[in-house]
Amino acid sequence: MAKTATTTKPVKIKKVSRAVTRLVEPGSQVDCMHCDERVKFQAKLRHQQVICNVYEKNKWLRVEHYHADCYKAAKQPFGKPVD
Ligand SMILES: [Zn+2]
Repeated sequence: MAKTATTTKPVKIKKVSRAVTRLVEPGSQVDCMHCDERVKFQAKLRHQQVICNVYEKNKWLRVEHYHADCYKAAKQPFGKPVD
């Protein structure tokens, strides 16, 4: 069997929606997409939020914020969050 030549096409990075987990920062002014409540910074609690970059057809649409627990409750619409 002949070896198939490896074509060196430029690799297209597919832009897909993704989620990351971050600590809520002081002065946070965002609302959770799931429960509609403010994702609040509370120094003692060090809450985590999930930030999702939403892409559709390779185009960036928007950023969505969730409480970490709400993201789970919403069944992780943009996949498992990475750190
Ligand atoms: Zn929430």
